[in-house]
Amino acid sequence: MITKLDHPPYTIDPNVHARFDERKTILARRSWEASADFYGQPLHQNAPHVIATNRRGYSRLEYARLRAAWTVHDHFGGAFAWDALDAPDPVAQELGRYRPESPAQISAQVKETARMYGAALVGICELDRRWVYSHDREGNPIDIPPEYRYAVVMAIAMDAEAILRSPTYPAAVATGIGYSRMAFATGCLAEFIRSLGYKAIPMGNDTSLSIPLAIDAGLGELGRSGLLVTPQYGPCVRLCKVFTDLPLEPDPPIEFGITRFCKACNRCSGNCPADAISTEREPSYQVACRSNNHGILRWAVNVEKCYSFWLENGASCANCMRMCPFTRRALRAS
Ligand code: SF4
Ligand code: SF4
Repeated sequence: MITKLDHPPYTIDPNVHARFDERKTILARRSWEASADFYGQPLHQNAPHVIATNRRGYSRLEYARLRAAWTVHDHFGGAFAWDALDAPDPVAQELGRYRPESPAQISAQVKETARMYGAALVGICELDRRWVYSHDREGNPIDIPPEYRYAVVMAIAMDAEAILRSPTYPAAVATGIGYSRMAFATGCLAEFIRSLGYKAIPMGNDTSLSIPLAIDAGLGELGRSGLLVTPQYGPCVRLCKVFTDLPLEPDPPIEFGITRFCKACNRCSGNCPADAISTEREPSYQVACRSNNHGILRWAVNVEKCYSFWLENGASCANCMRMCPFTRRALRAS
C-alpha cells in the first residue's frame, strides 16, 4: 500500500550532515585520488581480458553495443547546459511568457511533456538545497540562484530483462541506454520550459544528488542497496532532473514499506559480488567509505568495493537491481 506523507521518509542528523562535494563521488575520485587503488583506472580497461574468456554475455559485439549505448549522454553536452541552447526563438518571444492557470495545471502539463520525452515516472518537489552538491567535479562551488524553487524529477525505466543478465554486458547496455535517454529527456524538458519563458537547469547525476530529490518528489524510497526503489519499476530506473523557476505544485513523498522490507530481505547484499552492501539488520549513521556522506540514516554502500568489481568486470554491474524483489515484481506486472 502506498501512503502519501507530509515529509520525506528519511532521517537526517542536521548537526552532522552537510552538502556533498561531487569530488567525493567514486567516479570523480578516480581522477584525482592518487593513493586510491582505482586511481586513473578507466572502467573498461579490463574488458579485453574478460572478452578473451569467451563467457556468455561477454562478447566483442556486446562490448561495442554497451559503449555505443552511451552516445547521446556522452556527446550531447547541450542536454546538461544551464543556458538556452539557441538564440531566443522570435515566435516564442512574440507569443510572450506562458501564463499558467494555476501551479496544478502547469504541473500536469510539465509531467505530460516529460512522459512524451521518455520519463516513465515524473514527480515535483520544492528544491531542498541540502541535496545540491557543494562543488562540482572540478572544484567549482555550485550556487543555484534563489528563483529556482522547484525540481522536476524524472525516472527513466530501464530494460529489466537486460538487467536480469547482470553482471554480463547486456545489463551494461541497458545502463548506457538509460543514461542516453536521461540526457534526451532532461535536455528536451529544459528547452520546453525555456520556450514557455521560464528558466531551467537540466541535469543527470551532476549538480545535485538524484535519489533524495526523487524521494522528495514522491517517486519512491531508499533501499538497502543505496538505490531508489519505486513502486512501479523497483530500482530499475535512472534519474534525471530539471530545476526551474516555473511555479509548480509539489507532489507528496510516499512510503510503501521499503525500509521494513529491506530489514528482512538481504537479496542485494547477498548477491553483491563485491560485498559492498551492508548486511546489518538496521540502518544506521555509519559510513562505509569516503564516498558516503555523513549524517544520513541508511544502509551505506561501500562504493569503493563496488567500483573495484566494475573494474574487474570490465563494465558496470547491476546485480543489486537484478536481485531486488521489486524488480521481479515490476517485470511480472509488465
Ligand atoms: S552494482 Fe554490483 S558490485 Fe555494486 S553494489 Fe550493486 S551488486 Fe554490488
Ligand atoms: S534486494 Fe531486498 S534488501 Fe535489497 S533493496 Fe531490494 S528489497 Fe531491499
